[in-house]
Amino acid sequence: MPTETFRCRSMTYDDFHYIEVPDAGYITCSCQGVDWCSHIEATLVFGERAMVPEEDHPIANRAMVKAKGRLERPKHWKADWLSKRRWRGLPVKEPKAIAMLKSGVPVVSFEGRGRKRQEAKDLATEHGWRDVSIPTRGVLVHVSDAMHGDPRLEKAKELGIMTVTYAQWPMIASIGDKLRQRARRFVA
Ligand SMILES: [Zn+2]
Repeated sequence: MPTETFRCRSMTYDDFHYIEVPDAGYITCSCQGVDWCSHIEATLVFGERAMVPEEDHPIANRAMVKAKGRLERPKHWKADWLSKRRWRGLPVKEPKAIAMLKSGVPVVSFEGRGRKRQEAKDLATEHGWRDVSIPTRGVLVHVSDAMHGDPRLEKAKELGIMTVTYAQWPMIASIGDKLRQRARRFVA
């Protein structure tokens, strides 16, 4: 029997990985996975198909039969892909910030506590912003004095959210409407 090769959508870009299941030997993925990776686990162990193009489904199904009993989960493996609902084709709850933005208000997230945060929040309210506690899609600005590498700060950057410090926030607070109008085309 030939090697079964099928495509699996990558999680971050709109391109594909190729998973190859030969009759014997290593099962590989073009992400450099050998006998295991998120793509292999999702498609060949869990049998998920949302990330496999429709026309490759029969190949993936045959490959899964062929791979049976040959794949073993690495000891310290964490299946982070389970939370990638969009990738898995599951309904994704829209963040609250998106709804706020759509209703016409700019949205900011604050990280930090105490008076500093309260003052920044008051300033936000004064300028017509609404605030949420976590940077999600729909948030225009994330205010944080956290150090580089802080997970929320990194998340904000990953989402393309403008990140500013508490010292910079007063300058940004006054241009909320401008930022909102610029962002509107992205959430339509
Ligand atoms: Zn892979």
